[in-house]
Amino acid sequence: MGRSSKDKRDIYYRLAKEEGWRARSAFKLLQLDHEFNLFTGVNRAVDLCAAPGSWSQVLSRKLRFSKNEGVKIVAVDLQAMAPLPGVTQIQGDITKVSTAQEIIRHFEGQPADLVVCDGAPDVTGLHDVDEYIQAQLLLAALNITTHVLKPGGTFVAKIFRGKDVTLLYSQLKIFFSGVTCAKPRSSRNSSIEAFVVCQNYSPPEGYVPNMSNPLLDHSYDVDFNQLEGPNRVIVPFLACGDLSAFDSDRTYPLQLEAGKQYQYTPPTQPPICPPYQQACHLRKNNLLSREDAPSVCPNQDKPELAD
Ligand code: SAM
Repeated sequence: MGRSSKDKRDIYYRLAKEEGWRARSAFKLLQLDHEFNLFTGVNRAVDLCAAPGSWSQVLSRKLRFSKNEGVKIVAVDLQAMAPLPGVTQIQGDITKVSTAQEIIRHFEGQPADLVVCDGAPDVTGLHDVDEYIQAQLLLAALNITTHVLKPGGTFVAKIFRGKDVTLLYSQLKIFFSGVTCAKPRSSRNSSIEAFVVCQNYSPPEGYVPNMSNPLLDHSYDVDFNQLEGPNRVIVPFLACGDLSAFDSDRTYPLQLEAGKQYQYTPPTQPPICPPYQQACHLRKNNLLSREDAPSVCPNQDKPELAD
């Protein structure tokens, strides 16, 4: 496959590189903001599952553009991420309470106005397993959110619209008065991915934030789509983004000016030391069977914190 083929196939991939975004996902957050005005009045934001950092880039550009004072953005991911201006990074696991505590420390006790989470596990291709793991990640993000979000605040998270999605909506409705499932134009129709936009954080009276997980803590033998009465929550579904925006499932020809040749644009920020780099190194050097094989990035420290 030539270098240009993904550029030709995926308009948002191509545009992301041209506009300097680290990933095409940036357009998803931009299109969600277009519909829901997510950033108005936001000074403190948390980006969960942030690497390689295109959502943090959007937050940094949008929040810091008009008001440099008092804006704080904290980005969390299991993986290291190259620094970004105005973004404090935590390399950590969002299923851990220690991560919530570290976020709170960075905000010096003040709550966040907005929490976003584009978290995705490495997909296995087994749909039920992928949906289940994605649901766990969403609930972990919700738990972290209950520790850090201010009342009235907004939570945006990736969701897979699988068969047990109703249970997730019910969980979210406990904490937010407005829950909408939104599908930005840049999210492929062929993908079950969508985003829940949860507005007006209002936890039940007396609720004490914790990191327990209802899907893990209870036996998982209920058909949640059979829930009835007040337990069955149906949230509105909104296709968002300008309908004249590029369709992420279509292929657009390269738009070249007359007489100009196609020029490859390299990624804005390649991943720093991703797990596959170690695997490729071991295979290439015939070291796969060596337990003591050295790491290709042995001195990989946590990334420096950007100011
Ligand atoms: N929003 C990002 C952007 O725009 O660049 C892309 C996020 S990527 C689709 C999903 C990320 O979720 C991966 O970087 C992965 O490391 C992270 N992730 C998965 N499980 C996690 C966990 N338990 N804690 C923290 N991050 C996690």
